[in-house]
Amino acid sequence: MSSLFIISLDFELHWGVFDKRDREARMQCYRQMEWVVPAMLKLFDRYGVKATWAVVGSLMVENEAEWQSLVPEKVPAYTNTRYSSFHYAEMNGLRGAAAAAHFAPDLVKAIIDCPGQELATHTFSHYYCLEAGQDPEAFSADLQRVQELAIRKTGRPVTSLVFPRNQYAPAYLDVCARHGITAVRTNPANWFWTSIGNEDTSIMRRIFRTGDVFIPMGAKSAYPLESMQWHQGGNLLCIPASRLLRQYDPALPWMNNIRLHRIRREMEYAARNGQCYHLWWHPENFGFHPQESLQELEGILQHFHILQQRFGMESFTMAEVANLCSIESQRDKGSAH
Ligand SMILES: [Zn+2]
Repeated sequence: MSSLFIISLDFELHWGVFDKRDREARMQCYRQMEWVVPAMLKLFDRYGVKATWAVVGSLMVENEAEWQSLVPEKVPAYTNTRYSSFHYAEMNGLRGAAAAAHFAPDLVKAIIDCPGQELATHTFSHYYCLEAGQDPEAFSADLQRVQELAIRKTGRPVTSLVFPRNQYAPAYLDVCARHGITAVRTNPANWFWTSIGNEDTSIMRRIFRTGDVFIPMGAKSAYPLESMQWHQGGNLLCIPASRLLRQYDPALPWMNNIRLHRIRREMEYAARNGQCYHLWWHPENFGFHPQESLQELEGILQHFHILQQRFGMESFTMAEVANLCSIESQRDKGSAH
């Protein structure tokens, strides 16, 4: 089995952080996306790298009026309303200059038009599956909107999903499967990455998560294709993440080098051992230092190119991984009889 390089991107603009960051302070960063996303796509295209873009459904919408018409039949009744994007929209509005923090239909179109890129979903409303008050029915209503929108805007449904803040539980995986999702990104196997709610981020977890970028602490980040699990033996593949690509930090140039060196080393381990390496990040984080971040990305893609030449490593979208695993498991079943 050859090795796989998987990239998934949580593309969300302000929908991803409305509960904890000031919109005005981040406008500049969101505006940068107008050229940073096309620049990222150009790099992916140049190096033949496929990425799965888990886009917040709301980004595909033109404006506040259209968005209002798409509010799901059942919205999540979070006990703490600050996690509700519907509550946020009601209190803060989504129009005028602020619209650029919430809607990016042209960028979504650019993603779809770029060869090899997969349009996936990060839910319609940046939905939190582990927050108190909401339930799987509200999640189902959210995903229904996602699929209606995807069909209306692109002509076909999406089949891969990334859970906001990586929060999920088995009942929500069932909902995904019912809405035609065949691949989800799951957390790395280490304990400090297990799925937890927004309020539940203990200091120790945070220290471990941050430290893990620089020093090896947990299990290996690469994993064999055969280790991926089908949810309850069904048609929904759980694809673990290997590593979060953290944002460029101008204050600590040596740390940037250690961080990147580690990713290159892990990619090489996967390539040499016929394993999968799944890198993910938020495109928005490139907005703070776009040139440096794009340069770092190009370094990673160049490294992939070398691994492709030397070890036959391949670039796959999440949907392609699900297809491949499905073919493999059919073959295994066939040979078992
Ligand atoms: Zn997110």
